[in-house]
Formats: sequence, C-alpha cells, structure tokens
Amino acid sequence: MQRDETYDVCIVGSGAGGGMAAYALTRAGARVIVLEAGGPWDNTKDSAMLKWPYETPRRGAGTHQRPFGEFDACIGGWNIDGEPYTVAPGNKFSWWRARMVGGRTNHWGRISLRFGPYDFQHKSMDGLGDDWPITYDDVAPYYDQVDRLVGVFGSREGLPNEPDGLFLPPPKPRCYELMVKDAADRLHVTCIPSRLSILTQSINGRAPCHYCGQCSRGCMVNANFSSTNVLIAPALKTGKLRLVTHAMAREVTMGKDGRANGVSYVDKNTGTERHVSAKVVVLAASACETSRLLLNSRSSLFPSGLGNEGGKVGKYLTDTTGTDVSGYIPKMEDHVPHNHDGVGGMHVYMPWWLDNKTLDFPRGYHIEVWGGTSIPTNGLLSGIESYPGGGGYGKQLKADYRKYYGAYVGFSGRGEMIPNEDSYCELDPGTVDQWGIPVLRFHWKWTDHEYLQCKHMQETFRSLVDEMGGTVFDPMPTKEQGYGLSTGGSIIHELGGARMGEDPGTSVVDPHCQVHGVKNVFVADGAPFVSQADKNPTWTILALSLRTSEYVADQMKKGAL
Ligand SMILES: Cc1cc2nc3c(=O)[nH]c(=O)nc-3n(C[C@H](O)[C@H](O)[C@H](O)COP(=O)(O)OP(=O)(O)OC[C@H]3O[C@@H](n4cnc5c(N)ncnc54)[C@H](O)[C@@H]3O)c2cc1C
Ligand code: SF4
Repeated sequence: MQRDETYDVCIVGSGAGGGMAAYALTRAGARVIVLEAGGPWDNTKDSAMLKWPYETPRRGAGTHQRPFGEFDACIGGWNIDGEPYTVAPGNKFSWWRARMVGGRTNHWGRISLRFGPYDFQHKSMDGLGDDWPITYDDVAPYYDQVDRLVGVFGSREGLPNEPDGLFLPPPKPRCYELMVKDAADRLHVTCIPSRLSILTQSINGRAPCHYCGQCSRGCMVNANFSSTNVLIAPALKTGKLRLVTHAMAREVTMGKDGRANGVSYVDKNTGTERHVSAKVVVLAASACETSRLLLNSRSSLFPSGLGNEGGKVGKYLTDTTGTDVSGYIPKMEDHVPHNHDGVGGMHVYMPWWLDNKTLDFPRGYHIEVWGGTSIPTNGLLSGIESYPGGGGYGKQLKADYRKYYGAYVGFSGRGEMIPNEDSYCELDPGTVDQWGIPVLRFHWKWTDHEYLQCKHMQETFRSLVDEMGGTVFDPMPTKEQGYGLSTGGSIIHELGGARMGEDPGTSVVDPHCQVHGVKNVFVADGAPFVSQADKNPTWTILALSLRTSEYVADQMKKGAL
C-alpha cells in the first residue's frame, strides 16, 4: 500500500460539510487533505448555464450519470456503476449520491433555512424522537457566519420557529407567485419570500445573480452557492489544502494508542490502495456514506465499527416527507409573454403555519411553489391533452401550447419525519462494491405520523389550487396509496446514522460531533442530526460543520488533539 505524507487533518468528502470543514480548517492554518470519490468540476467553466435547451444531446433526456438531464450540474444519480447499495426485502429506499467535487451542492435547490428553536428540542414539546444535546442558541452564531460567507436572500418575518437570518434582499414574486400569495392569504396559510443561497447583491467578490433561472446547471458567475467555488476554491488558494479526486475512502485506520492515524482509500484511476496519515479525521461523505465508513472501520479495538459500541451507527436514519400536487389555472391562460425567469428556484414559499394541537399528526411541513414560464425546455407541456380541449395536431396544437404555457402551478410539501427503529442502514453481509468495500443495506418504514401529515399536505395543496380557481391534474391519492407519500430517501435529505448525544450508549458523536471513544475523529455532514425539521437541512449542515471545525482548530491549538 502506498502512503502519503502526514497531514493535520484528513477530510473525506467535498460537499457541503466537507467543503466547509476544508474552508474553516485551512483558514485556521491547518494542513488539510480532502479525499473526494468523484472527479473535478468547476462551475465557472463546466456549467451549461448559457446553452439553449435545443443544444442538449438526446433532446434533454437524462443519462445514467445525470438522471435530471444532460445539462444538470450533478454527476452521480440514483445508481452508480460499480457502487451498489441494497434494500431489505419488502422495503423501499432510494439513495441519490453525487460523485464530483462539491458533491450534491452543485445542483441542490439552494433553499437555505435555519432550523428553529423548537426543532432542537421537540421531544420536550411532544414526547416524540429525541432532543438534541445542543440548542438553537448554540448554532445561531454559526448560522450568522454562514449567512455572511455564503449569502442568502430572504425577509425578516419574526416568526417563532423560522429564525430570520442576515438576509440579502429577496427577488420580487413572479406573476403566478403573486396569485399563489393571494390564495394563501385568503386561506390563512403564511406565504413569505423564499430563502435561497443566491446572491441578489455582490458579496465577498462574487457577482450577483443575472436571473437566468438555470441554477441547477451550475452558475458560471458563482452567484449561487456550491461548495466547489465558494468553499473549496478559497481553501485551495490558501496553499494549505491538497484535494485528491477519484479517491474512494475505505476506512479510518487506527493506531495502537486507540487514536485514528489516517484513512485508507482506493485511487479509482489506478485501482491502487493508498493510505493518508493525519492527526485528525473529519468524515463528511454524506450521512449514509459516513455511516458506511464508520461501520467499515473495524479493528480489534472497535470490532463493530468506530463509534458503534452502543450499536447506533446507521440508526435513526430519516428523510424529509414529500408529496406534490399541481393544477391548471384558467386565469393564467394567454398571458402576455414576458421574461420573468428570476432565480433558479421559487421566490415565495410557505413555512409551517399551524398548531399540532388541533391536528392528527406531529410536527409540520413547508410548501414549495413552482409554475409559470421560463426558458422553454424539452418536453414542455407534455400532457397538454389534460387541459380543456388541449392537444391535437398542427396549428391547433401550437395555439394550445401558447395558450396553456404557464397556466399551471404546483406545490411540493417537505415535512418532518419522526425517527423510528425500523428506518436504518447497516452493512450488507453479502455485497461489496467494485473495490471490495462492503455496501449499505437500507431498511425503511414510514409510520402513521408521516402518512397523516402527507394527507394534510394533499388536502392543503388541493384547496390552494381550488382557491386560485384551478383544477388539479390528478385525483387525491388514497390511504392504500399512502396519500402519495414519497419513497424513503427520494427527497434527498437523508439525515442521522451517527446521531449526536451525551451518552455513548444511545448516540455516536458528542455535541461537538466528536466520535465517542475516538478523540480525533469527527463527523461534519448530516449524520449527527438527531432529528429532521420542516426545513431543508443543508444550512444546518454548513453551520454545524463550521462549529465542529472551529472546535477542532481550537483543540489542535491547545494540543488536545
Ligand atoms: C436535487 C437536489 C435538490 C436539493 N435541494 C436542497 C435544497 O434546496 N436545500 C437543502 O438544504 N438541501 C437540498 N438538497 C440536499 C443537499 O444537497 C444535501 O443536504 C447536501 O449536499 C449534503 O451535504 P454533504 O456534505 O453531507 O453531502 P454531499 O453534498 O453529497 O457531499 C458528499 C461528498 O462526499 C463524497 N464521498 C462519498 N463517499 C466517499 C468516500 N467513501 N470517499 C471519498 N469521498 C466520498 C461524494 O462524492 C460527495 O462529493 C438537495 C439535493 C438534491 C440532490
Ligand atoms: S439564476 Fe442567477 S444564480 Fe442561478 S444560474 Fe442564473 S445567474 Fe446564476
């Protein structure tokens, strides 16, 4: 096995968590190596932001590596050649992985919400799941730092569990969003400007958005957040970071003193086994990959994997709940053509607005909004036959496209799942990937908490479409159809697997995300999350990674690591 030189810190993964750790630790003066399983990518050069939709090969169809279309910025997908995962019989789970520098931040939706004070202490309020060992106040200063460094737009609303950030001005609502806001106001559903990490003003030398609406292709001017150019690039500029791409970490290696001494990895270009020595290891390979690495780091000291003395690695895995409803809105027919592309995401959204005391499910969800017109893409208005009199041939069909383009609106619910004993990942004893690394096997179960929440989403979205004078495209899914609840993992917000706590018997990392029992191994992605929230997780991953990295830097300076 070939060995590299010794570094202060070895970080596994260069996505949201790994990128932030690399940024913060190099700033603090540490010599850092990042092992990234994917290849290089630079959105300022590699993005298809300025291409016309008709320039896509295969008429916009996705590929194995880019299921969301060939211009999509994310290389990876639901299935990666040579890197399988399995699902226990009778269970359903989908796992999206990125394999590139910057991970999934290359095409994430940039919805950047802070968890609120209740989200850290929900068990104390309703008895379900577990409280975090830290509070909102512990994380708030790091959210502030992330806001200043990365940039997020939004509005100050003073809502109890939707903390305001240090916001850039939000873009104005588009035509269909004004109609949504109108309907929401009438139904007493809170509707406010969205909160996205897209620059509406220049900060930190980055250009503001020019409203081309193509964020998911990667932004060539760096106006939206990706780990690649907002965190990894400045970290490289310090001269303190070595970024190794195509480096698939296999396990954390242990010294005789009970401390980690580095990470072994496979150089995917040559298939050779390598080892990097480091004083500290930070795992940020994404929640499930980090669980896999911990479970695969077996030694005589830790026969069931690092941090797994209590058998909790891989446990308390959660995803966001999700369901969608869309409908045709006659008032939006024959609109005056105009450019309202805006940012590549919604300009308004609905945070959770109700009190569970009057409901038959715990916790809440937020509502994402889509619709209107943007640069026409391949497959535009497929299903035109479901509009009244829509479809046909020739001139009539073209006229119908013009009439109905933009005359629809859609709502997606994104809600909180309660962790349960039946949703977890473990090593599959019978399957390895192409490098012989044991793979994960997933177990998944939604409970009535999630099904009833989803039913409420469906009913709410239908009443919003109705209030806008529209007709929904699909009938209400039945109880037998799970009310349209998404497959576990498919909302791509997996969290948990190495949850945070004071007790090594019930958790994997301590409140600083330091692995119990191994002082110099830390986790800096979504794995330490004790619970979901009715918010998307990445802003909290960034804030926690920053908090952990500052702790690591401080402990190194004190000679405690
Ligand atoms: C389509 C889509 C939309 C989304 N929208 C939002 C949104 O609007 N808001 C939000 O908050 N979140 C959103 N997310 C989720 C968000 O992308 C993730 O929460 C975030 O990227 C997680 O950061 P991470 O660092 O944990 O993992 P990732 O960003 O996935 O990065 C992990 C990195 O580790 C690397 N890696 C994995 N295993 C190994 C290994 N063994 N060795 C070396 N490297 C390894 C991977 O190649 C990858 O680059 C979205 C995701 C997708 C896919
Ligand atoms: S909409 Fe703005 S942030 Fe998104 S790709 Fe275009 S310029 Fe960049």
